[in-house]
Amino acid sequence: MSEAQAKSNQTKRWQEMDAAHHLHPFTQHNELAAQGARVITRAKGVYIYDSEGNRLIDGMAGLWCVQVGYGRQELADAGYKALLELPYYNAFFQTTHPYVAELSQKLAEVTPKGIERFFFANSGSEGNDSAVKMIRFYWNLKKQPKKKIIIAREKAYHGVTMAAASLSGLTSMHPQADLPLPGFVHIPCPYWYGDGGDLTPEEFGLKTARALEEKILELGAENVAAFVAEPIQGAGGLIIPPANYWGEINRICQKYDIILHVDEVICGFGRTGKWFGSDTLGIEPDMINMAKGLSSGYQPIAAVGIGSKVGEVLFNAGEEWSHGFTYSGHPVAAAVALANLELIQKEKLVEKAGGATGAYFQKKLAELSDHPLVGETRGVGLLGAIELVKDKKTRERFDSSMSVGYQCRVHCFANGLIMRAIGDTMVLSPPLVINEAEMDEMFGLARRCIDLTARDLGIL
Ligand code: PMP
Repeated sequence: MSEAQAKSNQTKRWQEMDAAHHLHPFTQHNELAAQGARVITRAKGVYIYDSEGNRLIDGMAGLWCVQVGYGRQELADAGYKALLELPYYNAFFQTTHPYVAELSQKLAEVTPKGIERFFFANSGSEGNDSAVKMIRFYWNLKKQPKKKIIIAREKAYHGVTMAAASLSGLTSMHPQADLPLPGFVHIPCPYWYGDGGDLTPEEFGLKTARALEEKILELGAENVAAFVAEPIQGAGGLIIPPANYWGEINRICQKYDIILHVDEVICGFGRTGKWFGSDTLGIEPDMINMAKGLSSGYQPIAAVGIGSKVGEVLFNAGEEWSHGFTYSGHPVAAAVALANLELIQKEKLVEKAGGATGAYFQKKLAELSDHPLVGETRGVGLLGAIELVKDKKTRERFDSSMSVGYQCRVHCFANGLIMRAIGDTMVLSPPLVINEAEMDEMFGLARRCIDLTARDLGIL
């Protein structure tokens, strides 16, 4: 049997096991069973490899998380050492361990000003559910038990657990589980390209920020607990708010005594060119949620960062915080996260994303805007979006039944590039370690695949 045949047989066996026994996240299983899952077997640097030996450049850093790239010895060593020394212990009932103590201190150093205490979870979703419980507890301790409604935004993505999915504003996530839960409401988001119409970005920024104030006044500030938002909306289509948006949101939250909980799961750890999206966009959070880049995805770990407003109340509650996971601050995950943060600092990855690497990425991204199928490119740091449109001038979309973005993504897979399609918005978010030659390759492939999509549509 040839090597290629052996690989193909092995791939088939994995696909069969998988199809028979594995319920995948966010997957249409009939389609998957018919096609067979792509089996990824290894990864190095900015590249992933499948079981047939194909190499793909990972323009999405996994799910927006592998900041330091794949295969880093430093992280493997840190995890191995912790596995031998203290593979497990918990932080319940007045115990701790060096890994979680050191990670907490490091996070206090790098997170936005005022964020100084941390609760650990295992995923971004758990982080947000934990944050919602903290917010409720805070207002109960403050003797304002009516202040419970949480306002989030349309097209937001905050995860899949019950509260996190209720916060999310991607409505397709709701009906299967009868969500959102009571007490979660959504306001429009600052998606100027899609929804701004004839308004200038500034006018639209102000309008969508003021939608928060209108909602607070409608509900009564005495009933509103918090506003929850991503600095830049990721899974909703890389929505970068107009420059005046966040200043107005800061003002409104302060005026009405509303907790501002900022979901930094995608924007954290250098993605936007500073340590956190809050730093880049001038946000003044009371609390933040982080995951993904915290460990570069090498271990499941998330953290809720708490500023003094909420922290002083929770830490002086005089009663037990009745919440926590068996694996909160898991020693191996904490050790890997700490090694990851040290590596990000040592290699100056945040400075690079905000400097030369980010500038080169943005230059290459902007070059795609001359393409007949591209209505707009936009980006910050190492985040980039490419809007595929029917009419560049009017911003008219293709009919969603044409699945233009999906077709483009199919071409990407076939040509060795991972680029995400969110409707007809193509998104890139590569590892922060990507170099210029790799960016040339990535954007070259992106252009080729947009060309192929245009050809399918009879445009080129
Ligand atoms: N918040 C944001 C902003 C996210 O992008 C995500 C995941 N894409 C989550 C929360 C949920 O994180 P997890 O998948 O780790 O639960």
